[in-house]
Amino acid sequence: QWIYLNGEYVTKENAKVSVYDHGFLYGDGIFEGIRVYNGNIFKCKEHLDRLYDSAKSIMLDVPLAPAEMERALVETIRKNELRDGYIRLVVSRGPGDLGLDPRRSPKAWVIIIVEQLAIYPEEAYRDGLRSVSVSQRRNIPDALNPKIKSLNYLNNILVKIQANLAGVGEAIMLNSQGYVAEGSSDNIFIVKRGVVFTPPCYCGALEGITRGAIMELCAKLGYTLKEEPFTLHDVYVADEVFFTGTAAEVIAVREVDGRIIGSGKAGPVTTHLLQEFRKIVEIDGVK
Ligand code: PLP
Repeated sequence: QWIYLNGEYVTKENAKVSVYDHGFLYGDGIFEGIRVYNGNIFKCKEHLDRLYDSAKSIMLDVPLAPAEMERALVETIRKNELRDGYIRLVVSRGPGDLGLDPRRSPKAWVIIIVEQLAIYPEEAYRDGLRSVSVSQRRNIPDALNPKIKSLNYLNNILVKIQANLAGVGEAIMLNSQGYVAEGSSDNIFIVKRGVVFTPPCYCGALEGITRGAIMELCAKLGYTLKEEPFTLHDVYVADEVFFTGTAAEVIAVREVDGRIIGSGKAGPVTTHLLQEFRKIVEIDGVK
């Protein structure tokens, strides 16, 4: 396995960052999780746009132009002979003296890791996940803007820990006003009487690439899609609930906080969207 590290390819054992790296010391950096389907990078431009927007927002100079970054991604999957899998692209502020002032880190570090993906078993897509809401709250834009995909994932990790303790696959995070925001690393959708709802990003959702692809699919397939705030009550009484994410794709939820959702397995809209999503991933990509 070859890891891209600042323009060089090194083995997994030799892929090391400094203890002075500000990504390590302060979570100062950004990342992307990207899927490779059949040798194609899915939604490459969208992921790079989000990466460079996150970089601009935190005043991080990415040492590669987007076209160079795309070439580095393509070369890394080629070198690893990856047909289907997952890419983790990390840009950290880079090594610098102690002290959180980013001027101490003169050069950002770019790291690309490719992996085989351990996703949910296929029956989870039919049967749906169990889920719980958690006490952890999602930052809304008065703190770190949720659109920035930063290396500060402690909040999400605490959500994941609560999901683990409850023995469920993914948890639901609310924002400080009590509206549903997203999962620990997935966006959330609900379906009620044929209408599909997802929280707007200002409720505390990352602008997920899969979320965007599903919104486009809804339009194409003729489902009404509403981006509006909703509460846990709306989730409990929804006909269908599902999460979307690069790793999870579209995964149904069969139970939330002990309430059975709809029929108690993946509903028709979720199943339809997953089927159609799996069709587009094969064709919509960068070779
Ligand atoms: N929300 C959070 C907090 C995430 O980390 C992710 C994963 O990247 C998502 C949602 C889903 O976004 P995407 O579809 O771009 O993977």
